[in-house]
Amino acid sequence: MTPTEPRPDPAPVEELEKRAAEVLAAVPDYVWDGRQPPVPIEEIADSCFGLLVREVEDMSAAPGAPQVGPGQSISGLLLASRGEIWVNAGEAREWPPRKRFTIAHELGHWILHRTGQQALFCRHGSVEESDRPELPPAEVEANAFAAALLMPADLVRAHHRACSGDLEQLCLIFDSSERAMKRRLASVN
Ligand SMILES: [Zn+2]
Repeated sequence: MTPTEPRPDPAPVEELEKRAAEVLAAVPDYVWDGRQPPVPIEEIADSCFGLLVREVEDMSAAPGAPQVGPGQSISGLLLASRGEIWVNAGEAREWPPRKRFTIAHELGHWILHRTGQQALFCRHGSVEESDRPELPPAEVEANAFAAALLMPADLVRAHHRACSGDLEQLCLIFDSSERAMKRRLASVN
């Protein structure tokens, strides 16, 4: 794409909210009752979509992995042909809620952007729990989908009221990072 070519806009946020809500509505009760957070994202990826989630130390071992420069890393990737989501094991250890966000982000690519057997690699700065409008549209969409999936609007509002807006408490309830929850609160309230 040349710099003069306008970049397509990401899908409207309402559309992504709707897609995430449809996924949650279709989760069978034995996986999740739909009421009690945290949303069991790994079980949903597995039981509802047949996707195996792996924590991988060396993401560059994936077939077709791009070269990343010093200080850069791959946070997650979707191997569509193998039905696998790989999550950066180092990040998962350091920031456990980040692992959940990465899984939800990759599931977003599976649902929204999978066109064939290709692999999708997501760099650290693309799997973003806060607003980064300069990201490619597919990354913006996967992030918005992930937030809607992990922090369903109605549940966030209800728990926000119940705990009188205590951010730390909300993060514990939803197993979310502060950054992701702050952004979600701003968009649902
Ligand atoms: Zn991505």
